[in-house]
Amino acid sequence: MNNKQKKKLRRIVVALAVFAVLEVLAVAGVFESLPYGLWIEFAAFLVPYLIAGYDVLRRAWHGIAHRQPFDENLLMSIATIGAFALVFFPDAEPHMAEGAAVMLFYQVGALFESYAVGKTRKSIADMMDIAPDYANVMQGGELMQVDPADVAVGDEIVVKVGERVPLDGVVVSGRSQLDTSALTGESVPRVVGEGASVASGCVNMTGVLTIRTTSAFENSTVSRILELVENASEKKARTENFISRFARVYTPVVVGLALAIAVFSPLAFGLPISESVKSALIFLVVSCPCALVISVPLSFFGGIGAASRSGILVKGSSYLEALAQVDTVAFDKTGTLTNGTFGVVAVHAGEGVDRDLLLSFAAHAEAYSDHPIALSVVASYAGTIDREKIAEVEEHGGQGVSARVDSHRVLIGNDALMRAEDIDVRNCHLVGTILHVAVDGEYLGHIIIADMMKDDAKEAIDGLHAAGVKKTVMLTGDREQAAAAVAAELGVDEYRAQLMPQDKVAQVEALLESHDGNGKVAFVGDGINDAPVLMRADVGIAMGGMGSDAAIEAADIVLMNDKPSQIARAIRIARKTLSIVKQNIVFALAVKVVIMILALPMIGIATMWLAVFGDVGVSVLAILNAMRCLRVRK
Ligand code: ADP
Ligand code: MG
Repeated sequence: MNNKQKKKLRRIVVALAVFAVLEVLAVAGVFESLPYGLWIEFAAFLVPYLIAGYDVLRRAWHGIAHRQPFDENLLMSIATIGAFALVFFPDAEPHMAEGAAVMLFYQVGALFESYAVGKTRKSIADMMDIAPDYANVMQGGELMQVDPADVAVGDEIVVKVGERVPLDGVVVSGRSQLDTSALTGESVPRVVGEGASVASGCVNMTGVLTIRTTSAFENSTVSRILELVENASEKKARTENFISRFARVYTPVVVGLALAIAVFSPLAFGLPISESVKSALIFLVVSCPCALVISVPLSFFGGIGAASRSGILVKGSSYLEALAQVDTVAFDKTGTLTNGTFGVVAVHAGEGVDRDLLLSFAAHAEAYSDHPIALSVVASYAGTIDREKIAEVEEHGGQGVSARVDSHRVLIGNDALMRAEDIDVRNCHLVGTILHVAVDGEYLGHIIIADMMKDDAKEAIDGLHAAGVKKTVMLTGDREQAAAAVAAELGVDEYRAQLMPQDKVAQVEALLESHDGNGKVAFVGDGINDAPVLMRADVGIAMGGMGSDAAIEAADIVLMNDKPSQIARAIRIARKTLSIVKQNIVFALAVKVVIMILALPMIGIATMWLAVFGDVGVSVLAILNAMRCLRVRK
């Protein structure tokens, strides 16, 4: 509890104590026995009322002065002042005690609200407490602590045991285990050694590491995550916007209705005016929309928090809402369902072509590409790459690469790329991705490479089906054979092969179009070539660990640990959040409507007590329910 909350609690306790004493005196009939007893009682109950509620009255007054009066402060002020004012009706029962009690319990509810919101914020902030305070840099033979923002790209930093990695980089020396749980939700530590790339935000557990930084602080993983989470609350869900619009319209309507009850029921039914005013006041108390205004955003906030605890970054509650309605999921293949680290299966050089020459041309042509295929070809090349020899590198997205190597024009890629240059290819019976290589318009042969399926790729597809996703589709630029093999192994419902990046957009658009009802389409990609598809889908999900910056930028949801099985979990979290939001809306409105009806002057069963317990009770229950969003089932 913070200081402000403590102060409020103290005020409430004092007011409650005074109130209790007065109530005992009132029940014992002490006030009645005094001369001017009614007025003494009136003045006496004003004391706890003002102690508990002076800030509510002040805020209501502030609202009126600024011409934005319609909020719960106004409702509470009118209702409680009205309860006290009943004393001026000679034939009415006085309701001063209720007036004070309404204010007291309203404040108890408000205190609980702010406590719950604070607690949710804090537990998300704790989870997100990944920002490093300093980086250790060697300066003049001594290790100095500097602000991570002052470390340049390419500088070496030292991360001691127990410290958080401050910047993204590559290990230059040392071996250690990293705790990546703050980023990925993964509890198994990751072993790293020389050459491994490490993300900022991980905790170094067992050995000192020297790291050469690969990005500046503001582009490091930590900064990007914090920025995403901070901005998440700006992209509001439709439900959330609906609630705030609803509250704006609802409050004046309720005040108008209350006024109508107070004025018309004596005229229409001949009820005493004191009765009708009392009904109107009860009506006002119970109509307070705070249960919804607080609990709905709190639920979304909790859902986003729960997701980030599992390494799923959701960029806004609107995406959580959309995710809950997803019934079609389209996947990219390479890097999303597969690891994106290819091994060379076979090299088929044409007749009279030297195998090593073929590989050398391939590796040189790929040397400047970031595509997983290129990285794998370069990695499996045994010779050294002479970058001096390479020029005019051009990437043909979804097809391959062309480059000038040693004054030869080298082309490496799939059938489509070769066809575009009128080069005849030889096909291959082996399963895998085929890389045709042509030099100066002559076909040299091909390299067959194969990718490993991600460990949890099958689990991911099964999980989605189990979660009620109707259709899973794999979209890939790879050739038919490779796609069919992967599709069959994983059990995806449909696949489309040999797609160019723009074809993937068209495919997702077709899925969006062919869609009936409210179901939404998600696309999951690693972002190499597919940022536009991520933008086009209702929900774009990117692999954050290996995904490109453009993909993380374009996506609505980022999976930090690159595990496709997290998608099903994200959907479960989203659905749970939405169902809690709906429960709260239905429950709060139902209780309120019932009490409102009971309060109507013709029925007249509801009392002020019922109204205040109804209102505060609903708020507290709705908030407790909303806080369930924060919990994740493993
Ligand atoms: P996916 O849709 O499976 O993620 P891409 O759209 O990135 O694949 O690429 C589609 C196809 O284009 C690959 O299967 C490969 O045949 C070819 N290709 C793309 N980039 C390269 C490259 N750098 N070198 C060789 N071939 C490539
Ligand atoms: Mg890809």
